[in-house]
Amino acid sequence: MKADYIIVGNGLAGACLAVQLHTLGKKLVVYDIPSDNKSSAVAAGLYNPITGKVMKKTWQAAVLFPYLHRFYREAEHLLQRSFFHPVGIYRPFITAGEQNDWAAWSANPDDGVPVELTVAPQSRLAVNDPLGGLLLPTAGWVDVASFLNAVRSLLSREHRLVEEPFRYDAVRLAAGVAHYGDIVAEKIICCEGVGARNNPWLAPLPIQPLKGEVLIVEAALPEAPIVNRGVYLVPHRQPGFFKAGATYNPHDQQPTVTNQARQDLERHLKAILRIPFRVCGQEWGFRPTVPDRRPIVGQHPRLEQILVFNGLGTKGVSLAPYFSHTLAQWLAGKQSLPHEANMNRFYPLYSN
Ligand SMILES: Cc1cc2nc3c(=O)[nH]c(=O)nc-3n(C[C@H](O)[C@H](O)[C@H](O)COP(=O)(O)OP(=O)(O)OC[C@H]3O[C@@H](n4cnc5c(N)ncnc54)[C@H](O)[C@@H]3O)c2cc1C
Repeated sequence: MKADYIIVGNGLAGACLAVQLHTLGKKLVVYDIPSDNKSSAVAAGLYNPITGKVMKKTWQAAVLFPYLHRFYREAEHLLQRSFFHPVGIYRPFITAGEQNDWAAWSANPDDGVPVELTVAPQSRLAVNDPLGGLLLPTAGWVDVASFLNAVRSLLSREHRLVEEPFRYDAVRLAAGVAHYGDIVAEKIICCEGVGARNNPWLAPLPIQPLKGEVLIVEAALPEAPIVNRGVYLVPHRQPGFFKAGATYNPHDQQPTVTNQARQDLERHLKAILRIPFRVCGQEWGFRPTVPDRRPIVGQHPRLEQILVFNGLGTKGVSLAPYFSHTLAQWLAGKQSLPHEANMNRFYPLYSN
């Protein structure tokens, strides 16, 4: 069969790209191993334009967040599924100094990201917030598992979805095309997350796994807004259940949950919640991170048929929509690749 593109991987990177290319009328074949997905399938799905201990606007916030809203809304329409929840995030204050700093931030119109301060406890949220807190109305969450399932249905219906490992050694590259089994495609777009470490074309790329763990907890909490202070609680599958996370451990490469992570997350939960909770599950995953913390989009230095979309790190939900758009537009010859995310920054690593 003839296809425009083969996509390897249907995590956030591959799925957002598939939506973009489907919208442009392209014919796709997607390879994925859903049971092996231990990043997007585990992600809580939060997006937030102001993050970090000192609460700064994130990289490219002014571009990424307006685009993200448009993308997930249009994807909901295309896929006939609801997974986008722009419900805001509530962050309790810990010190009076912090409360003052935020009063100053919210008075500065140049910052461009609206915040709402409350100085009284929000009793309906059942959290410890004696000094009140901060509501970030431009933040929210995406039900990533539901989004991925919906993309999977689209691919099965209108393209070709193959749920088995893609074998790099079975590819034959010829002038302007790639052959794989019965498929002839213009390009192969590699979106394997940390699985890229098994991809011989991407071997020089510094994609490093950053392990994260989450707990599944049952608690009598409202579903909105999301509470986030030391730990977040994001609705999970059925009413009364939440994903609580996450840990960040670059040293642990074991594909399993740990007692240490459970204890750390439980400690944070006890500090923030005023009500009892029950832990009923624990999950782990590896985020695909890059030392310069920028995504990787672009073309292999020598093989024009091979492209990459990876390096989404801790922020796949907010990075994947915009950067999949730039890659799709570049493929259509309409836009150049964004400088800071371009794979060509790693070309010197291919010279050895
Ligand atoms: C605990 C945890 C919590 C997180 N929470 C958030 C959050 O709240 N917000 C946020 O923005 N981000 C979050 N993240 C990060 C986010 O999950 C990642 O940025 C994102 O999942 C990366 O997506 P990806 O598509 O690049 O990789 P992946 O999701 O790993 O997808 C890659 C896919 O490729 C497939 N694959 C690999 N090799 C092959 C092959 N040879 N053949 C066929 N298929 C292959 C895999 O099976 C997999 O399905 C979290 C991550 C973790 C671990």
